[in-house]
Amino acid sequence: MSNLFTPALLHWHHTENRREMPWKGEKDPYKIWLSEVILQQTRVEQGMAYYERFIQNYPTLQSLAAAPDQAVFKLWEGLGYYSRCRNLLATARYLVAHNHGSFPRNYSELLLLKGIGPYTAAAIASFAFNEPHAVVDGNVFRVLSRYLGMDTPIDSTAGKKLFTEQAQLMLDKKAPGIYNQAIMDFGATVCKPATPLCTQCVLQSSCKAFATGMVNQLPVKEKTLTRRLRWFTYFILECKGKVFVHQRRGRDIWQDLFEFYLVESEKMEPWSDAAIHTWLEQQLGATKATIVYRSELFTQALTHQQIGGRFIHIQLAQIPPSLRKNQWVSPVERARLAFPKFITQYLKEKS
Ligand code: SF4
Repeated sequence: MSNLFTPALLHWHHTENRREMPWKGEKDPYKIWLSEVILQQTRVEQGMAYYERFIQNYPTLQSLAAAPDQAVFKLWEGLGYYSRCRNLLATARYLVAHNHGSFPRNYSELLLLKGIGPYTAAAIASFAFNEPHAVVDGNVFRVLSRYLGMDTPIDSTAGKKLFTEQAQLMLDKKAPGIYNQAIMDFGATVCKPATPLCTQCVLQSSCKAFATGMVNQLPVKEKTLTRRLRWFTYFILECKGKVFVHQRRGRDIWQDLFEFYLVESEKMEPWSDAAIHTWLEQQLGATKATIVYRSELFTQALTHQQIGGRFIHIQLAQIPPSLRKNQWVSPVERARLAFPKFITQYLKEKS
């Protein structure tokens, strides 16, 4: 069955695939890497704008390596998964310092770089260097599991191994870049997650899931995600036109990003006016304060956590002694800092 798959897929790619993307056909490993890292956490439509901005600001690996951390974080703002942004910078700087500013030309050496896993290594190796490595991402899992009727969970160790082997078997070894592009586009536009276009599909006559009525049951996943719930109350402390900001450190979410004064709790706190004034006095020693605004509830779902919370804007007559050594910024300075999406969604709504 598998030998019908590759020619039919490639035929579809050459005759029917109309998917346009700015990095399509790209041979520059830097641009391929950038697009793949950006696309790992976002929809293509949103990712395109980020990609264009990155290329405009940092057209080469060298320019990215030389960029200040905060400027790159700012450009990344809204994409989430900041560890990927940090890895991007670390790898750019490593390659400039230790590999003459260029990417290694093969899959196994690419895999050794920070933040580059099997998927990205296969994409760079096949698109830029024509190395025969099949990409295995969500699209590929879905297309193969349906076409071959494979119900091994795609998130199990056995599943990952099995699907990677199958993907490699299906690969057109002479044109791996074209094949990889074709299967990703096919998964994104034809064999889609919820509404696959089976009636127009060129693989339909040999598709196992279609023949057995299993299209909507495949692919199978083993784990259903449980998310930890966290409640954040952000106090926007303002004094003489400047607001308190703090850079997050440590191994928690949003590392290195900026935030306002955070009070985290296990459940949602009601924060009555009296409770806010007591807290300001007892916690910060602020006696002269006005509550300017209390926001509605905001939420954000991260991979393993669900964040809920609100923003409370406080006008202070003086900076409390306990916060004098902290950073207070003007609106212009604040606009240059990178904040997590949870905060930028609030700032956007207020602007
Ligand atoms: Fe996917 Fe349907 Fe085509 Fe099978 S027939 S490969 S399920 S789109």
